[in-house]
Amino acid sequence: MFLVDSHCHLGDLKFGDSEISVDDAMHNAELAGVTHMLCVCTDLPSFPAMYEKIRGFDNVYASVGIHPLNISEPWSEDEFFEYASRDRVIAVGEIGLDYYYESESAGIQKSIFSKQLEYALRLKKPVIIHSRNAPDDTWSVLTSSDPEKNLTGIFHCYADSLENARRVLDRGFYISVSGIVTFGKAENIRELARFVPLDRLLVETDSPYLAPVPYRGKPNQPAYVEKVAHAVAAVKGVDYEELCGRTSENFERLFRIKLK
Ligand SMILES: [Zn+2]
Repeated sequence: MFLVDSHCHLGDLKFGDSEISVDDAMHNAELAGVTHMLCVCTDLPSFPAMYEKIRGFDNVYASVGIHPLNISEPWSEDEFFEYASRDRVIAVGEIGLDYYYESESAGIQKSIFSKQLEYALRLKKPVIIHSRNAPDDTWSVLTSSDPEKNLTGIFHCYADSLENARRVLDRGFYISVSGIVTFGKAENIRELARFVPLDRLLVETDSPYLAPVPYRGKPNQPAYVEKVAHAVAAVKGVDYEELCGRTSENFERLFRIKLK
């Protein structure tokens, strides 16, 4: 049986005063039955060190992209394409818009988001989208950058309305649910998990952030996606094994890979 953490950041597993090593995280993941993971890039300067940490683990995939909160970090198109061509780099991301923390840079966020969507089209790779407090602008940049609907991808750590989830699904995109689904107050995320059909759903940790119950306040790690998967299985009323199987199939279909 496979279980995939579809979104984690292994370059820096630090949260508060604690930190865990990639080796420990990989060991814990194995013990928890987490078989694969996608390590997501958030800016180009940190890509080489991140890639170095994960390259020895052939069950870890990677992405390349500039997060909307990191748009002031240096980058070049050549570097972007060089990183994208490396072994097991299967996606462009995370890219998108974040108006929760930085609405004042909306203009430049939109232009860098749009440019990376264009790169994804050229690279023929799926995108990992981060959208926070910006559902309409995210949608308009995505639809105007990809009028032919050639792109596919995932909206990660989704927290927008069901109405917005509907249009995401209608365009053929996937939605991933994080450990927020285990938080007491997050009824909206449980409702979303119930709403997204089993053939479009993924689970993630967003490690080292957003550790699920009962690990809140600690650095998150891929092993804990097991807690996310259990919580999602419970709200959807399916067996844990079925949830693991379906989300792994979705991961394979979306990223056009075969898990081993
Ligand atoms: Zn992330």
